[in-house]
Amino acid sequence: MTSVERYEKALGVLDEYIRAHKLRHTFEREALLKIIAEVNKPIFTVHDIDAKREDQHISVPTLYNSLNLFVSARILYKLERTHGVQVEQYKWALDAKDSMRVICTRCGREANFNDPAVNRILHERKYANFIPAHFSVYVYGVCKTCRRLLIQRNSEQMVNGK
Ligand SMILES: [Zn+2]
Repeated sequence: MTSVERYEKALGVLDEYIRAHKLRHTFEREALLKIIAEVNKPIFTVHDIDAKREDQHISVPTLYNSLNLFVSARILYKLERTHGVQVEQYKWALDAKDSMRVICTRCGREANFNDPAVNRILHERKYANFIPAHFSVYVYGVCKTCRRLLIQRNSEQMVNGK
């Protein structure tokens, strides 16, 4: 994903989150998203965006509030690691893809599907002592082609009296 694609995707997710939670749009949040998208590092810290944040006159409290909001909206993950001192690192959550796939157990053919209800259930589910990141759902069964072949074979066997 290029930084522009990432920014646009993140903006879409933010938009949806803001609407769902009845928040207001702010220039600062959108500017921060753009700054973060341009950092172009898989994992970054607040230091990576500090200079540009100052250029845009975004305050430190606004920065932290926005980062927390991006984490809640699943635009970013927050990684808390301790290297002597505690460092807060952030990682894009948009790059990790949730997947939903159907797999034919006869021929092995796979296909994607998308079900917003499944997506919602899996993202809203709470786990004890576990913070989910992304998911994979596999649905096993028989594809249309294999099913047709099976029916054909069965009817042939019936004709042949087997
Ligand atoms: Zn098949």
